[in-house]
Amino acid sequence: MGNDSVTLKNVTVLEKVPLAEFTTFGIGGPARYFVEAKSEADVAEAVGWAAQRGVRLYPLGGGSNLLILDEGFDGLILKVGILGVKQDGEAFDVGAGEDWDAFVERTVDNEFAGMECLAGIPGSVGGTPVQNVGAYGQEVAQTIASLRAFDTRAGEMVELHRWDCGFRYRESIFNTTERGRYIVTGVRFELAKHGAPTLSYADLQKRFVGQSTPSLKEVADAVRDIRRVKGMVIEQGNPDTRSAGSFFKNPVVDVGLLPSIAGAACVAVDAVPQWDAGFGKTKLAAAWLLERAGFVKGYGSGPVRISSRHTLALTNRGGATFADVLGMQDEIVTGVERKFGVRLEREPVVLG
Ligand SMILES: Cc1cc2nc3c(=O)[nH]c(=O)nc-3n(C[C@H](O)[C@H](O)[C@H](O)COP(=O)(O)OP(=O)(O)OC[C@H]3O[C@@H](n4cnc5c(N)ncnc54)[C@H](O)[C@@H]3O)c2cc1C
Repeated sequence: MGNDSVTLKNVTVLEKVPLAEFTTFGIGGPARYFVEAKSEADVAEAVGWAAQRGVRLYPLGGGSNLLILDEGFDGLILKVGILGVKQDGEAFDVGAGEDWDAFVERTVDNEFAGMECLAGIPGSVGGTPVQNVGAYGQEVAQTIASLRAFDTRAGEMVELHRWDCGFRYRESIFNTTERGRYIVTGVRFELAKHGAPTLSYADLQKRFVGQSTPSLKEVADAVRDIRRVKGMVIEQGNPDTRSAGSFFKNPVVDVGLLPSIAGAACVAVDAVPQWDAGFGKTKLAAAWLLERAGFVKGYGSGPVRISSRHTLALTNRGGATFADVLGMQDEIVTGVERKFGVRLEREPVVLG
């Protein structure tokens, strides 16, 4: 932790705090200032302190979708550590600092449907609306009713309803139009007691062939198993899983590009994995593009390599720097673009 600190009314501002340990990727330099907020009042105090000093402020959850520069962050990192789960019928009000996967497990154990396919995703509850977390046929936008946030522009707490959040694939207002404005302090989810599990994803359907109604727990366990095989569950001490999750988004391209993509891969058009995205667009599988461009599982020889279990996960094999990550990212983006004419976008956020 930091060498120096200043204690305010509610919170303590630490200085020069190494950030790598607060991220699942394990890279990045120090924060000039660092506060952990345990309540909405703490958040307000930290925001006020930073504003008075003209210091930039950045909210941090579980650090599972974050890349931090080697020089660190010359501002205040506000770690949102607000805890608490309150149940109100089929609704749950959950503190932003609660661990996401532990909350999912609790809902599944109590037979609430709605997030069983989102088991095994690391990070905090408050981080999930930011990129509208999704997996295996579900996304959080389907169960978020509203959320509480500190509006740093207005300087007050606000409540935003689902329809205010602009949820789309891996997007919300929090990572697009209103990026940096809101600090999420709590989320209200609405679930379905004794609801049926979602089984829309092929990998899951295969698991339960011949079994008419798997339980929510069986589905959540199956999701965790599939994720583990794909290296998408963090295993402490295993560098092959030290990642920020999927590094590239699945690109959405014009349907007209398909023949040239298929040609470049020497396959028929209908052999290109794709999902209709409407309006003459189609979503491609980033992992397929990487593999066909030569970026296969285990690729790389330096401290940053593609996971041996998951093509889309760049992993820190030990001592990796941000520069190493950027080098691998550029190599892959350039290689895929050269082969297919498709430019991949990074999924994790870069802080700094
Ligand atoms: C192994 C692995 C598997 C993953 N699998 C998936 C997956 O299947 N699907 C998926 O969608 N994602 C996945 N992810 C990505 C990641 O887990 C999610 O995006 C997660 O929701 C990020 O939450 P976090 O608390 O860790 O956010 P952080 O990484 O701490 O922050 C991410 C962004 O959210 C902002 N943020 C965080 N908390 C708040 C808050 N309280 N208020 C305002 N802004 C905030 C940060 O400022 C930052 O911009 C995976 C990651 C890993 C490492």
